Amino acid sequence: MATGCLSAARVPDFKGLDSYKGEWYHTGEWPHEGVDFTGKTVGVIGTGSSAIQSIPLIAAQAKHLTVFQRTANFSVPAHNGPIDEEYKAKILQDYTAFRRAARASQGGVVRAPAEKSALEATPEERQREFEIRWEIGGFAIGGAFIDLAINEEANATAAEFVRSKIRQTVKDPATAELLCPRDYPFATKRLCVDTGYFETFNRDNVSLVDVKNNPVSEITKTGLKLQDGTAYDFDAIVFATGFDAMTGALSKIDIQGRGGLKLNEKWEHGPRTYLGLQAAGFPNLFTITGPGSPSVLSNMIVSIEQHVDWITDCLEYLREHETATIEATTRAEDEWVDHVNTVASFTLYPKANSWYLGANVPGKPRVFMPYIGGVGNYAQKCDQVAKEGYEGFALDAKEPVSAR
Ligand SMILES: Cc1cc2nc3c(=O)[nH]c(=O)nc-3n(C[C@H](O)[C@H](O)[C@H](O)COP(=O)(O)OP(=O)(O)OC[C@H]3O[C@@H](n4cnc5c(N)ncnc54)[C@H](O)[C@@H]3O)c2cc1C
Repeated sequence: MATGCLSAARVPDFKGLDSYKGEWYHTGEWPHEGVDFTGKTVGVIGTGSSAIQSIPLIAAQAKHLTVFQRTANFSVPAHNGPIDEEYKAKILQDYTAFRRAARASQGGVVRAPAEKSALEATPEERQREFEIRWEIGGFAIGGAFIDLAINEEANATAAEFVRSKIRQTVKDPATAELLCPRDYPFATKRLCVDTGYFETFNRDNVSLVDVKNNPVSEITKTGLKLQDGTAYDFDAIVFATGFDAMTGALSKIDIQGRGGLKLNEKWEHGPRTYLGLQAAGFPNLFTITGPGSPSVLSNMIVSIEQHVDWITDCLEYLREHETATIEATTRAEDEWVDHVNTVASFTLYPKANSWYLGANVPGKPRVFMPYIGGVGNYAQKCDQVAKEGYEGFALDAKEPVSAR
């Protein structure tokens, strides 16, 4: 299964959506031919990663854009642009080593590791380090200090740094405050990466509406209504409401394993896998970047490659050894699930109502789905398992794969 971790788009079950006469879109199912919002009034629901990336572009076209925010998000500049030639030449000098380093790293990205605790650094040192990382852009800031993901006090220093950037950028103080995330630690919901997101709220044609305590109650014929009865009319509505992450695409398929066991039944209380690669009871079913692997907490390209290589090697091994089936054992799966949970519990991640935990989908079990132990450590474990003749998997030679 290469069905993706963020491919099952989710429009919440809004009352009245069928009655809406305008155009509506979900950011995860964007029309390939593009959308032109020129001269239109637009409402965007949501302020996660897809909203943060699309809002500046929609605002540049729309007559008026209204953004409905339930939870403010931490976002850092992408600084997208042409690659510096000198930097490129340096990388290409030994590209193999560069890729190898990415695969051995924590997040699948090559960067100088942090050495210091944020709490050991002086306020000036902290500020300097955060500024350097802010200038680099992207997720670099998350690696500024060794304890940002595990210590609340350390984490709060990064959170306050980003809030100070929001206050510096957004001219209206009330809007700036509303855009400042406060109720979860920095980067424990997927850190967003933007191009001019906060600046967009300085535009005359953009307004921000707080729906935390006054949610969207229904979609009307002409727009939407909030719980307190406030109504808005829009030519177009954009649902930037995210995905049924990690398990959503798999759950839409009626996958059955041994004895007719359905994957959805097995995962009723949350996904259970061995290494995120297989689930006990489902022989020969591999999941690329499945739950229980680093997946969405890593550079996905690196993690996808590592899984594809591992599965390819595994298939070659099965052919060579005339093996019909490979299946994770329940014991190996139980131990891995325990390990995934233990590692997550050492971090601040479970403190946020994030899609990593399934918290964005009503009724979805609250289980931390990705593996946070690091891309390099994880790959080593996978290699070790293969080296030991696929330890933790049951191999059955009854019906050789080559004979089918
Ligand atoms: C807003 C956003 C920001 C992201 N940012 C980053 C980032 O900065 N870095 C990063 O590494 N990753 C990022 N990602 C994650 C991104 O999803 C992955 O990097 C990448 O797309 C994963 O590739 P994939 O092939 O595994 O899955 P996908 O690209 O999601 O592809 C899965 C494919 O499977 C198809 N499919 C699903 N179910 C079925 C079915 N039942 N039958 C047939 N086909 C099916 C889908 O249509 C899709 O074509 C981001 C994702 C989002 C949504």
